Formats: sequence, structure tokens, C-alpha cells
Amino acid sequence: MPTEEQAQFRDKVAGLKDFNQAFELVKSVVLQKFRMHRAGLSLILQMMPSNLGAYHMLGSNAIVMNSYLLAAVQKIAGSVKEYNSYLFMVLAHEYLHSLGIVDENTVRQMTFELCNWMLGDDHTATRMAKEDPSTIYPELRSMMQSQFSRDFQVVRNFDKTNQTYIQ
Ligand SMILES: [Zn+2]
Repeated sequence: MPTEEQAQFRDKVAGLKDFNQAFELVKSVVLQKFRMHRAGLSLILQMMPSNLGAYHMLGSNAIVMNSYLLAAVQKIAGSVKEYNSYLFMVLAHEYLHSLGIVDENTVRQMTFELCNWMLGDDHTATRMAKEDPSTIYPELRSMMQSQFSRDFQVVRNFDKTNQTYIQ
């Protein structure tokens, strides 16, 4: 059974309306749990090979998410709640990288701890953080996309809330 706080976080994840809301939630819980924060990131959507959910280029201020996988999860998940769980988990993972944590296992462990604390161990986001999204959606393993597309889309107004005018 989730605690009352976890039930509230579950509602928040389920009710996310867009990338910006998802990222605001990621930032606020990472601050609460790990006391870490940064601003000024941008989000780029790009078609990438299906084994790659997203990445953060070290030293850059961009998170690049795989639009092909996002669309696939949206289709397979069949509910906004599950799709939001995926989106939240992937953004949390990349945000932790963007805070300077390079080691993949450390980031995976922290993402799991974050989701477990917020949402409980039986929540979709926690299960995806512990294993892999394809544990929950085995269909993802048989997808054939293997190319990077040259086209990409920059998500507008991403992470603008905490920026100051002094750059
Ligand atoms: Zn990673």
C-alpha cells in the first residue's frame, strides 16, 4: 500500500499534461530527495535507434529524448498514467546525468531510489527504473528502428520557470 505522500505523488505523475510539467516535478523531487538542482536545460525530441531512450551529452545543456520510443510507449502503454510514468522516469534519469553524475549504475540506482521513495515499489515508474522499460513492455524489444533521424524538434518553453534574467 502506498503511503499518503506516495498516493499524492502518484496522482501528480498520472496528471502530468506535458514535458514541462513532467520536468518541473522531476526537479522538485530531485531537490527534495538529493538536494541537487540546476536550471537552464533544453529538451530535444529526435528519432533514434530503439535501444536508446534518451541521452544527455556531458557538458551540454540538452536532454535528447527518443521520439520514436515515446510514440511507441504511448501506443503500447494504453493509458496516460503509464505513459507519464515512462516519461517521468526517463527525464529523472537524464536530469541526474545533467547534474554531473556520469556513472550509469549510480544514475540507475538513484532513479530507482527516487521512484521507490515517491511512488512505492509496485508503481510502473519504479519497476521501469529498477529493470528496464522493456521488462514491462516486451514489445519494445522487437522494434526495428535503427537509425538516427536528422530531424529534431526543440520543446518550447522547457525549463523556463527558474531562469533569471541575468545569464
Ligand atoms: Zn544513463
